[in-house]
Amino acid sequence: MSTPLALGLDLGGTKTAGALVTGDGTVLARARAATPAARGARAVLAAVAKVARELLAAAPGPVLGLGLGAAGTIDPASATVVAATDTLPGWAGTRLRSGLTALLHDVAPEAWAGGSPVIEAVNDVHAHGLGEAWLGAAAGAPTALLVAFGTGVGGSFLVDGAPLTGAHHVGGHVGHVPSVQAAGLPCSCGATGHLEAVAAGPALAARYARLGGAAVDTPEVIARAAAGEPLAARVVTTAAAAAGEGLAGLANALDPHRLVVSGGLSEAGPTWWDPVLEAYRAAALPAVRAAVPVPATLGGDAATLGAASLLLRRSPTA
Ligand SMILES: [Zn+2]
Repeated sequence: MSTPLALGLDLGGTKTAGALVTGDGTVLARARAATPAARGARAVLAAVAKVARELLAAAPGPVLGLGLGAAGTIDPASATVVAATDTLPGWAGTRLRSGLTALLHDVAPEAWAGGSPVIEAVNDVHAHGLGEAWLGAAAGAPTALLVAFGTGVGGSFLVDGAPLTGAHHVGGHVGHVPSVQAAGLPCSCGATGHLEAVAAGPALAARYARLGGAAVDTPEVIARAAAGEPLAARVVTTAAAAAGEGLAGLANALDPHRLVVSGGLSEAGPTWWDPVLEAYRAAALPAVRAAVPVPATLGGDAATLGAASLLLRRSPTA
């Protein structure tokens, strides 16, 4: 088989998903495992290695190595976890490259195209961005900003297909820009008033309950809003307006060729999207007003494809 092969893995707080990917982005096999977050970094890495082995077994030829999109702040050069939240206790400081190399030491050298695995890692939202920039909604765009509204709010600004990670590897943390609608609300980072505190999925359910609504999950709040319940509609509109304003602020500052929105809320339909777009247009500078955010297209495959692209789409100078 002449096409290059790589493993792309997406390590999240609850599950680790992986794919065996060819040079043109075809997925030949998928595998997944629960992430044993509470058992510490070593157990988490072992789960990643288990998924990798399962995919290797399905490979029709030697594999270049393993690309990993991982929760936390990642230094891609050293493939080290710089910082992490309580979702993965003990995750900060984990050396992903050496840790995974050790866990895969008994794999036969012939399984790897170079005799041993190349291991690369980025933050999981950057992996999403890489996937969409390769094969999804941002394909072909010289610059692109992907923003994910899900359990948190994260982003990836890609220039010529590579995520900008910044001086401290924090680049892309777009959920932690101030938002008027989040005034006084505590954020997952410890500060108050950040976009994530009002616009992330769990923030909707929390706000709904705080204002006197029932204790229901976010999809139920959205369903109630879509059905016309006034309180639910107000909560969703507030969160979506904050999202739209945040997106406009980022577009004003970065002017990406493509602005892509992913994450669970992006699949909520017009109940969420309509107020997002209205707020975006109101806050965007005239030149970027028509360059409205568009939905991501790769769904659950974005991060695994993006992680595999770390090996399959290396620039000639890398
Ligand atoms: Zn924050």
